[in-house]
Amino acid sequence: MIPFNKPPVTGDEMTYIRLAIESGKISGDGQFTRLCNEWMQTHFHANRVLLTTSCTSALDMAALLCKFQPGDEVILPSFTFSSTATAMVLGGAKLVFCDIRPDTMNLDETKLEAAITDKTRAIVAVHYAGVACEMDTIMEIARRHGLKVIEDAAQGVMSTYKGRPLGTIGDFGCYSFHETKNYSMGEGGALLINHPEDEEAAEILREKGTNRSKFYRGQVDKYTWVDFGDSYLPSELNAAYLYAQLLKAEEINENRLTTYTAYHTAFQPLADRGLIELQQIPDGCIHNAHMFYIKVADLDMRTRFLNYMKEQGIGAVFHYVPLHSAPAGLKFGRFSGEDVYTTRESDRLVRLPMYYGMTPSDRNTVIETVLKYEEFR
Ligand SMILES: *Cc1c(COP(=O)(O)O)cnc(C)c1O
Repeated sequence: MIPFNKPPVTGDEMTYIRLAIESGKISGDGQFTRLCNEWMQTHFHANRVLLTTSCTSALDMAALLCKFQPGDEVILPSFTFSSTATAMVLGGAKLVFCDIRPDTMNLDETKLEAAITDKTRAIVAVHYAGVACEMDTIMEIARRHGLKVIEDAAQGVMSTYKGRPLGTIGDFGCYSFHETKNYSMGEGGALLINHPEDEEAAEILREKGTNRSKFYRGQVDKYTWVDFGDSYLPSELNAAYLYAQLLKAEEINENRLTTYTAYHTAFQPLADRGLIELQQIPDGCIHNAHMFYIKVADLDMRTRFLNYMKEQGIGAVFHYVPLHSAPAGLKFGRFSGEDVYTTRESDRLVRLPMYYGMTPSDRNTVIETVLKYEEFR
């Protein structure tokens, strides 16, 4: 049995967790949270990074920091995880789903302007599979219409667009450190605040509506409840786990890329024969091998193929049921224009096992099993 995912473990995690326990502080914003924030600020040249309890909560924070008013609209792809959408609903926005590009499964920037109305306030760019959206175009459109840009870079930690780390290009960026992502802390995430003027509001929102961060910096002489807030601080135990992973970020990245490249090389002949489509990486995008997916002919073939993989003991899965057709999507949003690619392309997509530390032998078993599938022979 080869699982679809294994949580990343480098072997150093216990050392740092033990240090956290011995430090006598296990609640949020201790030394490991600070180390993780600083590591990301340095490596991604980010203005400010705050660890959160999940990417969902980072998206919640980004939505609340946008201060949507009743009737305001946010444009996002329908092909994404529920968190992207539900955070905007929490922030008070109506959802306008935009079609995706078939090559990257990302928001189609050429269809963006048609989705903009006088109520539009923000765009959420989801970097699917850690491959960047066409950010120059998205940012140019957003600036021209006075819109905020939130990057859902849950899958894009360590990926870049024209040399710029994902999450640092829009107004806010959101990372995930869930166990299914490249770097993990069990459950966790981070908010990247790309403008200094948003930092104070983000700190207050993250710390139960108090100005405690300012107090610790000695900028105010007592700390008090100053605004609406919530609690988005992860425990130091989780931050310690993540810190061990960040210190091995390059190793984890290269390990995943090795698997990605092996799959890609092995399946190129199937693509050449027109039996499948492989992932496309546009010029200027460097990806982090978050995912390896193929696209088969259609939904029926995918169902047969997934059943076959299951019988062979290999964890292959599909991704995602488009949100505009889900019960909550119907309630909170509408699709802008025609759904040309969202449903059709998501129906064909199959993800193969991909995780840090996958053995060459397991990788070869996956490859051989795919190549032996009767419709590919
Ligand atoms: C995983 C994921 C999330 C949610 O991340 P959590 O840390 O589990 O909240 C949000 N958006 C996308 C695109 C994801 O892949």
